[in-house]
Amino acid sequence: MPYFTQEFINKVIDSSDIVRIVSRHTTLTRKGQRYWGLCPFPDHNEKTPSFSVKPEGVYYCFGCEKGGNVVNFVMEMNRLTFTEAIEFLANEANIPLEYDTSRGGSQERHSSKKTIYEINRNAANYYYTNLMKTPAALKYLSERGIGASAVKTFGLGYSLPEGGLYAHLRDKGFRKEDMLEASLVRENSGRVYDYFRGRIMYPILDVNNNIVGFGGRVMDKSEPKYLNSPENSVFYKRSMLYNLNRAKSALSSNPMIIVEGYMDVISLYDKGIKTVCATLGTALGEKHASIIKRYTDNVILCYDGDSPGKKAALRGSSILENEGLNVKVLLLPDDHDPDSYIRAYGTKAFIDRVAEAKYATDFKLDELFLKYDVSDVNDRARLLSEAAETVSQVRDEVKWDYYAQQLSQRTDTPLSTVRNLIYTKGGRSTASPENLASGSAPKENPSPAYSAKELTMLRYIMDSRDNYLRFTEAGGANFFTGEMADLYEEMEKLYAQGCVDMEKELIYNTELVRQAALLSTVEADIPAGDVPRYVNSLLADMYGEKLRQIKKQIDDVNSTKDKTVLIQEQRYLKQKLIELKSGV
Ligand SMILES: [Zn+2]
Repeated sequence: MPYFTQEFINKVIDSSDIVRIVSRHTTLTRKGQRYWGLCPFPDHNEKTPSFSVKPEGVYYCFGCEKGGNVVNFVMEMNRLTFTEAIEFLANEANIPLEYDTSRGGSQERHSSKKTIYEINRNAANYYYTNLMKTPAALKYLSERGIGASAVKTFGLGYSLPEGGLYAHLRDKGFRKEDMLEASLVRENSGRVYDYFRGRIMYPILDVNNNIVGFGGRVMDKSEPKYLNSPENSVFYKRSMLYNLNRAKSALSSNPMIIVEGYMDVISLYDKGIKTVCATLGTALGEKHASIIKRYTDNVILCYDGDSPGKKAALRGSSILENEGLNVKVLLLPDDHDPDSYIRAYGTKAFIDRVAEAKYATDFKLDELFLKYDVSDVNDRARLLSEAAETVSQVRDEVKWDYYAQQLSQRTDTPLSTVRNLIYTKGGRSTASPENLASGSAPKENPSPAYSAKELTMLRYIMDSRDNYLRFTEAGGANFFTGEMADLYEEMEKLYAQGCVDMEKELIYNTELVRQAALLSTVEADIPAGDVPRYVNSLLADMYGEKLRQIKKQIDDVNSTKDKTVLIQEQRYLKQKLIELKSGV
């Protein structure tokens, strides 16, 4: 049995993100210093979350009382031994395995990896030789602009339709078990056959230039078009970037350009764009982001300009930005992919396009302005809400402010409203009276800051029974909207039953977990003396919203009688608003 030094074990534990690892098995919601979710262990079935994780690296389930650090979690969850758990986590964190040989630890696992690399290298040579002997495959590549030099650089090859790799490797003395583990052959009722057949082969190298797997592409219309090696002990798609081994040396001075496929990588690289990489049949994920971060801070996502390409760019840029990377998005015109573009217009034109790439935030906002009609009031509210969400993720204060101003101008919405909305989306709601109690003109515009006020007030009410009483004494009632009205109703009921810890009660014992969790991200330090002002401000918003609806109804109805009733109501609401504002 192999051993690790304590130093190595500590390094692996320190490099593991327990929140990320647990999140693969259960959805976690942050609440204060901890994350909460439903217990992921199969023998504990629960409906309300009692499983907690501290980002510092420990977990504990209040239901089944299981707990420990990230190693214990992986052992329990994936049914691994301690050694296997450390190996698993080291791979996740991309830390090369170091066994403690002084303690008689064996290098068995390690040499098995070496064997797989060796098998893969032999397979790549075999495929390359096949390619050189198969004119149809060479012709296919040259028609796609891949000449002899690119074939050599990338070690491309060809797997024969009838197979032959198994016999070739067996003749070289490799064991069937190792070939199976390398995922190059399959076994079915005693018959062993090649995994890849009739495909152009792309060896996949890790950053240390070991061949860890293969991609295979058909030359005709048959399916699947692309086939990658299945994951095994040396091949983890989620942490692999195709061509990173070649791109890495140039990354210190150039941004990484991420494209969708092998062909794009080979074509761009061959034409002088050296820092190009691609994911391998998986979407860009957090693991990729943390690997990229080791080599560069700047990434350009270069995807097809069609709708799946845009979606991938939106998703990918958020993941990369979360890792603190500077992300730009480049969508190519006229249905071009990077390969077809550089072949049609050349390297210089491509570099010019790269220089024009938009920052991810600009790209996301532009997409929203395409999706919604700013002149429509409902559309504008949705646009602002989604745009605020996007901007709230911008970390830099200066950029943040720049986008807030831009949004305010582009939607013709007061800057204070836009800022408020962004604050709320970022879970940074400030309870400053300027932000919340400013009598913004709600009758013309259903101020999107309205929900900021709602959330702040509800959070205040959730914090204590005394707060709740102050709220009702100031004339507060259930004038919240949608799900927040449900939440208020529930709190009213629970306080009446003598509830003392409202947040806990809502999260553990009600159906309103999500709404309560949203509130836990809001801050509400409203001074007791200011409560009546906040209540009035909320009321003003409610009247304002009603007035807006009535105005619309008045415009729509035909009967004079109905119109008269509506106008009376309108007068009443206006009077109420005036009273509120004058503090009567
Ligand atoms: Zn449990």
